[in-house]
Amino acid sequence: MQNILDILPSDKCCGCGACINACPTQALSFSQDDFGFIRPQIDNGKCIECGKCIRTCPQYNEIETSKPRRVLAALNKNDSVVVKSSSGGIFYALAESVISEGGSAFGATLDDQFKVKHICVERIEDLPLLQKSKYVQSYTGDCYKLALQKLKEGMMVLFSGTPCQVAAMKSIAGDKYAGSLFLVDVVCHGVPSQTFWSDYLMTLSKKVGSLKEYIFCYKRKARNGMNKYASFTGKKCKKFVKNWPQDSYNCFFMEAINYQEVCYSCKFARPERFSDLTICDYWHWDAYHKNDFPSCSTLSGICVNTDAGKMILDKIADKLTLVESSFDNLAAHNGCLLRPTPKPAGREELLQEWKSKGYEFIDQKFEKKNRLRILKNRLQMYVPEGFKLWFYRLRHGN
Ligand SMILES: Cc1cc2nc3c(=O)[nH]c(=O)nc-3n(C[C@H](O)[C@H](O)[C@H](O)COP(=O)(O)OP(=O)(O)OC[C@H]3O[C@@H](n4cnc5c(N)ncnc54)[C@H](O)[C@@H]3O)c2cc1C
Ligand code: SF4
Ligand code: SF4
Ligand code: SF4
Repeated sequence: MQNILDILPSDKCCGCGACINACPTQALSFSQDDFGFIRPQIDNGKCIECGKCIRTCPQYNEIETSKPRRVLAALNKNDSVVVKSSSGGIFYALAESVISEGGSAFGATLDDQFKVKHICVERIEDLPLLQKSKYVQSYTGDCYKLALQKLKEGMMVLFSGTPCQVAAMKSIAGDKYAGSLFLVDVVCHGVPSQTFWSDYLMTLSKKVGSLKEYIFCYKRKARNGMNKYASFTGKKCKKFVKNWPQDSYNCFFMEAINYQEVCYSCKFARPERFSDLTICDYWHWDAYHKNDFPSCSTLSGICVNTDAGKMILDKIADKLTLVESSFDNLAAHNGCLLRPTPKPAGREELLQEWKSKGYEFIDQKFEKKNRLRILKNRLQMYVPEGFKLWFYRLRHGN
């Protein structure tokens, strides 16, 4: 009998950590590859060749899927929840419902050391820890084991994360916990590594002083909805808001050039889903639902994939404005519901350059290459939104 490292090449691993959680002898532990992506490592002396790691790996095994039965455009009715979420605040409503019934919500947080990791939340007042997207590979630690323990104790569990992490939870739990385990995936186009992110933060700290706060999806009302920015506060600067084309990390992320290798052939980026509910941004929702929601909204799309998904959504229906939509409309502007993100040219070059010359070097190169675009974008941010809205309506005749 082999172990998962004998079978699955490192570039096919997504770093979900399912194998490490499943190993009964702690022969597997967390490590990193050359670019800082999470990978399992083995202590052969501890391996008893039981094969559990192989049976639980969501990359190696086929996981049961379901086609979305219903697709909805959705917005949390509580504005303050929406502002603190990156999309329509659907995750908050789901987690709030499970916690108010005595359950636990698992998801990704940005901790006080600016590390992204999965944690378990059991108090509604702690839910802001999980709100908003963090565009970094999340360290799952022993969260699957902890979730399983809670399920065995009869507790309700909501497990959220990228589709590969949710498939990992599904693989570990099996189908024994229908009615108490709810799987919610966020549509995902790929993740940069924690090391890449930490190096970026170090470069940023040199410019703005030691960091006090970082927000990935800081929201501001804009002419055609709500714009999302990166925002940070350093020892030497007050809250600074940057649009993604001005910032190297956010630009690399949006251009998909710093993801782990397997994201470019992600088996979870498809219409058939692995979770009970899939949640995502509903880009260009105004093309289909203009009269259903206020104009400055960041709307979510929800795919209801299973009976469990329907059950939990029914429980929170009064907290949301829900409008029937269609998978084709949602996916028309959200490619990762259909296929993986294509790998851009220059990915290896960028990562090699970062490894050999450091983040500061690639940051300076980015700023030099994009000087004009950065300037234009900065200037645009100073134009009052009222004027932009007037100009937008003038051009579009509404
Ligand atoms: C890496 C990444 C890529 C994404 N790509 C897309 C995309 O291509 N298209 C799209 O429509 N939406 C994408 N999203 C999802 C989207 O940004 C929103 O998170 C989602 O629509 C839920 O919004 P919300 O307002 O309901 O909840 P929010 O409060 O905004 O989000 C909280 C949820 O996000 C999860 N989460 C946050 N960061 C991470 C992380 N690093 N790893 C795992 N889970 C995380 C939390 O566990 C929780 O479930 C992505 C999110 C992440 C983290
Ligand atoms: S085969 Fe069993 S003991 Fe060996 S690494 Fe895998 S899970 Fe652990
Ligand atoms: S279970 Fe996850 S971390 Fe382990 S080998 Fe498979 S993909 Fe990699
Ligand atoms: S793109 Fe796929 S493999 Fe990569 S993090 Fe997202 S779900 Fe996992």
